[in-house]
Order: sequence, then structure tokens, then C-alpha cells
Amino acid sequence: MAELISAVAGERLAADPEVLTAAARVLLREKFLQADMGITGANFAVADTGTIVLVTNEGNGRMVTSLPRIHVAVMGLEKVVPSMTDLMVFLAILARSATGQKLSSYTTLVRGPRQPGELDGPEELHLVLMDGGRSRQIAGPLREALYCLRCGACLNVCPVYRQIGGHAYGHTYPGPIGILLTAMLKGNEAVKDLAHASSLCGACKDVCPVRIDIPRMLVELREKLDEERIAPASERFVFGALRRLLSSPAAYALSAKLGRLLQRPFVRDGKLSRLPLFFGKWTATRDLPPVAGKTFRERWKELR
Ligand code: SF4
Repeated sequence: MAELISAVAGERLAADPEVLTAAARVLLREKFLQADMGITGANFAVADTGTIVLVTNEGNGRMVTSLPRIHVAVMGLEKVVPSMTDLMVFLAILARSATGQKLSSYTTLVRGPRQPGELDGPEELHLVLMDGGRSRQIAGPLREALYCLRCGACLNVCPVYRQIGGHAYGHTYPGPIGILLTAMLKGNEAVKDLAHASSLCGACKDVCPVRIDIPRMLVELREKLDEERIAPASERFVFGALRRLLSSPAAYALSAKLGRLLQRPFVRDGKLSRLPLFFGKWTATRDLPPVAGKTFRERWKELR
């Protein structure tokens, strides 16, 4: 970080957070003062007063909305709440679920451009309401995902997100809710792998302040991928075969015997390696335990 900011500042700065913050303030303030247009998102918009609401912890939102001549706010249409009374509820649950605060450090309410006699504010204010597939989902299976406040609580508790981090998702919105939002905005094809990046432990649903049932929708999304034949043919074949196998006790017992026989050439050091065909993709990067010498049923019979 020190190197990055030093390069922009044109002088060697110490790797001290306070020094770097002070330098960033000086450098950025100049940019804000010179900018013709400031573009922000919006956390909410209040229908009965026409107020746009920005929630930040850094204060940069206030610089963008007040210094440039024009302010453009871009917002998904699901962010509209009916009244100020509703807004108060959402502001409280957003801050509490995102950072554990009672209220974010900066909650900015914008009611329009600068009025005569006012010192701050833009000359023009434009609000862009984005649909981007949202209205198509109002009666669709992912409807509940539109309730999302983007507090990020489900990301922090997700065991998958905590291991792989946000960039691994490859889209704007990461984490369990991100998979659903990506499917909604970009189509099911975009999440054909991500739909499986969940253990379905339910931690996301438990922590969500608006109780979005993410695990249920992820299971439905997987079903949809199968119905729409978006999942690769090999994957559909394997899961189809597994379904038939697991629903027939006789077929299951036979498969265990066959598996023990067929795996012999591939068992090395107590694990399966270098499997043929598409199974090889699995063993190329991961360990796969061999089929046990005896099934539970066989051992149970012996014990009794
Ligand atoms: S799904 Fe719920 S927990 Fe996750 S970001 Fe949205 S509101 Fe927060």
C-alpha cells in the first residue's frame, strides 16, 4: 500500500496507516474539487419524500455528492422503501448486521440539487434506476434475493466464502447471496459452477436480518440447472447414476462390490489416484478415498 500511494504522491511515504491516510486525503481532495461529475450508488431511496440515502463508514460518499457540479446516483429499483419510518428500520438492521454499529458513521440523505442560499451540493442531481432483470424476477423463483440489503453478514459466516474469499466468485456480488444475485442479473449459465459452491449449512439464512432463505433457493437453482441441461453432460450423467444407485439397496450393494474390484489398479498409498476418463479431473488435484473393504451393512452383520 505504501508503495502504491508513494508512486502517486511522487515521494517515499512511510508504511504507517496514519501517514498514508493523510496523504490519500490530500491527493483525493484535489480530485474531488476538480471533478465535474460525482457518481454514487444508493443504499435506499424513500418513495414518499424522494430522498436518496447513502450509508458509508468512510465519508467519501459525502465528498462525491457535495463537491462536483453534477451528482449521478445509480441504484437498483429494489432499493426503494415506502417511507422515512421504514427507512429507520432498515438503517438500524443494515448497520447492525454489517459492522455491529448502531448506525453507520456516515448516513447521508440527499433530497435534491443545491437550493438557492445553500453553500454545498451539486447544481444537478440525476437518479438512474436500474432494472437489469430485477422486475423479471418479481414473480420468479429468486424473488426473495431482492430483499437483500447488501449487509454482508451472510458472507462473513459462510464457510466457503471464508476459505476462498470474494475474488474467487468472479462476479460483482460474492458469497452465497452473490450466487443468487448473479443468476438473477446474468442468467443461470453464469452460475453453473457457483451454484454448487455452498455446503448448504444454513448459516447464511440464520444470520440474514431479512431472513432470505438462501439454501432453499440454491437447491432450487441446482435443480433448474439440471432441468435446463446447463450442467455439463458428464455431471448430469454421474448425478443421474448416483440417484438410481442410492435409491435401490440391491444396486447399492452390488456397486460397492464392483467398486472394490474396479478400483484395484488405481489404489496407491491408501487413496485413489490417476482415475481414467472425466474422473481423472478429480484425482488430478484432490485425494479420493477408496471404497472401503467392507460396507457398513457387512460389518454390522458380522458384529451381530
Ligand atoms: S442476504 Fe441477508 S445477510 Fe446476506 S447480504 Fe443480503 S441482507 Fe445481508
